[in-house]
Order: sequence, then structure tokens, then C-alpha cells
Amino acid sequence: MPELEDWFHRYNKWSFSKHRLWNECRRQYWYRYIGTALRTSDEVDVARLKALRGLTPRAALEGMLVHDAIEKQMDRFARGMTVNEELAAKHLVSEMAKFTGTPRDKIIEFHNGVEQPENYFERVQDGGIGKLGTFFAKIWPRIEGSEHLRHEKFDEVTVGDVVATVKVDLACRMADDTIVVYDWKTGREDPAYESELQLGAYVLWASRYYSAAPEKVRSELVYLATGNVRRHEFSAEQLDRVGLLIVSDFKRRNSSYEMGAFSPDPGPWKCQGCRFATVCPHSLHGEAPGGGP
Ligand code: SF4
Repeated sequence: MPELEDWFHRYNKWSFSKHRLWNECRRQYWYRYIGTALRTSDEVDVARLKALRGLTPRAALEGMLVHDAIEKQMDRFARGMTVNEELAAKHLVSEMAKFTGTPRDKIIEFHNGVEQPENYFERVQDGGIGKLGTFFAKIWPRIEGSEHLRHEKFDEVTVGDVVATVKVDLACRMADDTIVVYDWKTGREDPAYESELQLGAYVLWASRYYSAAPEKVRSELVYLATGNVRRHEFSAEQLDRVGLLIVSDFKRRNSSYEMGAFSPDPGPWKCQGCRFATVCPHSLHGEAPGGGP
């Protein structure tokens, strides 16, 4: 049994991002969550894994900057101050500057040898500012009259003997006492990518944390490319099923910590977007044409 740092056991909780990475490639999950927690290893360079885990996926940068800029404005909302689109845009531009100087040290695909497309950062900036514009024009007016409850904090909900962590983009109480948990989406609107498990975990947390009946809590997916909003509601029975899924998912991922139990699942595009492609002997990132999907 590999020897793991004490902090691994303190932070070893269920989260949707762990669930998603496990389903993408189990070996990538092992590098990210187990390999970086090893006390020593003859198999991997633990310090290198720790350095690689901080890389950002190329396709996620815009969304990350938009979330961060909105979060700063929700800090103001929480303190009863007015929100400001111009400040949000300025924040996005200044945060993006942290990536422009050394993109190969910051962005996964560029680190893995993909040529940086022309005008990449200009397109990220324009796309991000456009989505902030949609947020302030179409979404903010439906939120501003509500009561701010919480945003971007790590919270926990216990299901059986498993602790699940959630981090909601924003939770508010509406005039009719309903609690709405918002999730900002910066990608393409596609119901196939909407996860009942992720949204159910949010609603499960909110209904427990605020002692609210499930019918008084809903999740809203906010698509910032269009301003469209999709509602998801859960019955008590559906939330029970979400809880069972969380427990079984967590147990499956914690039955062994040996690297061999986490099989690699390579693919050219997938490996090109993997933080650990430069250390994984199974990587196919070199077989993907330079541009990426
Ligand atoms: S490089 Fe490919 S096979 Fe290796 S961990 Fe990453 S996604 Fe999995």
C-alpha cells in the first residue's frame, strides 16, 4: 500500500471534478490526486507531478477568468455594494496577463508542445468580456433583487460515511423563499453535458445547509454565451439516488491507491489536454495534429 501524506486523508472527499477526471482517464486521476500525495516513490517524480497539476487547460482559461471576474463582483453583492461591469472586465484583463508572458508554463496544451494559435489571448479576452456583457445585461437583472447567501466557498455535505465537497458559483434566496443555486457555463449549450450528479449534489447540499425542502431549492445553469438559463429541480427520491451515487463513486475510487489499479485510457486529443502527458509513458499527445480540437 503506498504511503500517503496525512493531508491526503484530510482532503480525500467526494467532488464532481474528481468524478469527472476519473471517468476521463483513471491514470490521470491517479497522477492528480494520489501521485501528488505520495510520501516517496520509485515510480514517479512526485515534485514534478505537483508542478504539473497547476497547469490550466487551454479551453478552460476563458471560463476560469470569467468565473473569477464575476466572483469579485459577487463579493461586492454580498457586502451590499453595487456590481460593476467595467471593474469585472478590468479584473479579467489583469488576471489574463498572468498567463501571457509564459504560456508554456501555464497552459497544458502549450506545455505539451502545441503551437500557440495566433491571437489566442486576444480571442480569450474578447470572448470573456463578451460573456461578462451577457451576464450583466441578461442575468444580473434577475438576481439583483434576491438575497445573497453564498458564492465560491468550499462547502460539504455528508452522505452515509462519505463527505462530498461542493463549490457553488452563487446561491440566493428569492422573494418566494426558494433557494436558487447558480452555475455559470461559458461553454456551448448542450443538455448532454448537463450532469444530474453535479447539479443534484448542489441541491442536496443547499437543502441540508439551509434546512429547505427539496421543492424549495433548484439549480439554474446559466449559459453566458447566449444568456439562456436552464432550470433543474430534484425530488427527495432523486436526491436520495444522487446520494447513493456519490457513496458508490467514492468507494470505487478508494478501493486501492496502487498506480496499477488506475488504468491509462489514452487518446491523442485527450492526452494533448492532459497535465501529465509529459510524464505518462502511455501518452499519445504526440499523435494529435498541432491545432487541437
Ligand atoms: S497522458 Fe493520456 S493516458 Fe496518460 S494519464 Fe494523461 S490522459 Fe491518461
